[in-house]
Amino acid sequence: MRYCALASGSNGNCYYIAEGKDAVLIDIGINTKHVEQRMANVGIDPASVKAIFITHEHTDHIRGVTVFCKRYQIPVYMTAGSYRGSRLKLPENLVRIIRGDDEIAVGSLTIRGIPKYHDAQEPCSFLVSNGDINIGVLTDIGRICDNIKHAIRQVDILLLEANYDEELLDTGSYPFFLKNRIRNGWGHLSNRMALETFLEYRTPRLQHLILGHLSGQNNKVELVQQAFSLYCKDIRLSVATRRQETELFDSQFFFVEKHEKHFVHQLCYQGTIVFPES
Ligand SMILES: [Zn+2]
Ligand SMILES: [Zn+2]
Repeated sequence: MRYCALASGSNGNCYYIAEGKDAVLIDIGINTKHVEQRMANVGIDPASVKAIFITHEHTDHIRGVTVFCKRYQIPVYMTAGSYRGSRLKLPENLVRIIRGDDEIAVGSLTIRGIPKYHDAQEPCSFLVSNGDINIGVLTDIGRICDNIKHAIRQVDILLLEANYDEELLDTGSYPFFLKNRIRNGWGHLSNRMALETFLEYRTPRLQHLILGHLSGQNNKVELVQQAFSLYCKDIRLSVATRRQETELFDSQFFFVEKHEKHFVHQLCYQGTIVFPES
């Protein structure tokens, strides 16, 4: 599977996941011009997107949906609550209302909704699978519920929210009510909460952790990297930002690498060198 974050952060989110010719976007929280530019930067054809999934109605997740879905005539999947809350007026033929825990097939991909706690009407995250590899995109999480735990246990690739550094939020300039809205169990995960969650629920199948949805005011890429790098020596670690897209990752490389490492380890252990048959 190929995947990237076209944008990630409190100002805009857009995630691309593809298997062969089938591709989906999760959220379009930046405008269409930027989506197209960033897709071009990593060689993605916007016309390859077969469906758009919306996690909830906050502007940083829907800003570019209307123009993009009309321009490329792509169906938009979202819960009734998210559609109502968004006040979007999308062409009727492109709207697909789903339940928060629905499972939708798009070509060879399956997209499963994960209902979660967040201060929106009917929010859900998504887990995307090709039947073999599971990619979880988990942002805007007020607190860790059983749905989120279950999802993390199933993923090979995880994009997890690390929204704020607790000290920066505490001492920063946000008004008190806004600080509380972020940390009251209906807002976002802090770096510490994300790290604890990752350490507790990750399984050996996890190959790649991407931290995302960083707050522009209350977090820093270096802080996130510092917090996680010590615990990610055996997997790939990336941080996605709102300023530019990540590279277009290909899961194939991780799995080949993992297999080769295992094979070399076995040879060293046995003390003999045998070349693999091709
Ligand atoms: Zn939100
Ligand atoms: Zn958000």
